[in-house]
Amino acid sequence: MTGSPSGARERPPLDELVAGVRGGDRNCIARSITLLESTQRDDKLAGQELLAALLPSSGSAIRVGISGVPGVGKSTFIDAMGVLLTAEGQRVGVLAVDPSSARTFGSVLGDKTRMDRLAADPGAFIRPSPSAGTLGGVARATRESIVVLEAAGFDVVLVETVGVGQSEVAVSRMVDTFLLLAMSRMGDQLQGIKRGIIELADVIAVNKADGAHEAEARHAAGELSGALRILGGPGSGWRIPVLTCSALEERGLAEVWQAVLEHRSYMQAEGLLDIKRREQAVSWMWATIRDRLDSDFHADPAVRGLLGDVEAHVASGAVAPGRGAELLMRAFRPDGGRP
Ligand code: GDP
Repeated sequence: MTGSPSGARERPPLDELVAGVRGGDRNCIARSITLLESTQRDDKLAGQELLAALLPSSGSAIRVGISGVPGVGKSTFIDAMGVLLTAEGQRVGVLAVDPSSARTFGSVLGDKTRMDRLAADPGAFIRPSPSAGTLGGVARATRESIVVLEAAGFDVVLVETVGVGQSEVAVSRMVDTFLLLAMSRMGDQLQGIKRGIIELADVIAVNKADGAHEAEARHAAGELSGALRILGGPGSGWRIPVLTCSALEERGLAEVWQAVLEHRSYMQAEGLLDIKRREQAVSWMWATIRDRLDSDFHADPAVRGLLGDVEAHVASGAVAPGRGAELLMRAFRPDGGRP
């Protein structure tokens, strides 16, 4: 079932929402996420209250980020992997971070047919990316939605993101393991691998290792694995496994999941998972502050009154950008922030 992004209007009392989420009620889960996605100030306050109530029962899911360029097979992979996991009796939540969906109306997960089987699976809950707001706002809402899903008893939370821009970094800050999907096409050249993204990856899977391309994919995975060995892995000492799989033919998926679990066990055994989650909590706090400052700034009547003019003057060159910023900041905080 897909969580509906509507329904914020008549919000049930918070204690009902909390009890509903804890009981795994899908409607309450969807409404809670909608509340967290809201950009309205009073919703934000209610959302923080809701989170505070849910946080103690969160934290136990396996959180996995999944990235890769459009077309690499993310939704096919999540659909197949999700079904595999629910068949084992695990409850699987799927979230997404795609700030571009505001412009393209749901390029990631917006289209419900992308994960047919999982969408119909009672053991799964799929929620498209929040479709409005800055990357910071979208990432915050997704980060907070993980708490809702965990409090609702989901065992696995998969967070999908498109392989472009800064959204991978945001997702890597909310998951335990970051899985990068790549594919091999055009000889040995691996498509969809960007340097910065490789640095975030904990596990790499070369997808579409099927048909005529199977040998090619294996070869590419071998080369990449060798290259990573020379480059040296992340500072943690974890050696990034490079596997091959076919999401379409559902081959190699159990092995990819096994690698995800091994990464998690490694992190736990080394005490790194705790450290990571603590660092993530601090980074979440800062992301929340930035998001809040940003929305307070834009909601400020004095700022709103000046914004259009200042922007126009900066655009025409009549006012320097720094001066424009200063004017708006003064309007926002007339005392300059001094006590
Ligand atoms: P996304 O944009 O990363 O979510 O990619 P999709 O899951 O929508 O897949 C893009 C296209 O690649 C679709 O036509 C899929 O059927 C196809 N595809 C996905 N996984 C595989 C695979 O393992 N093998 C092959 N041959 N095609 C695949």
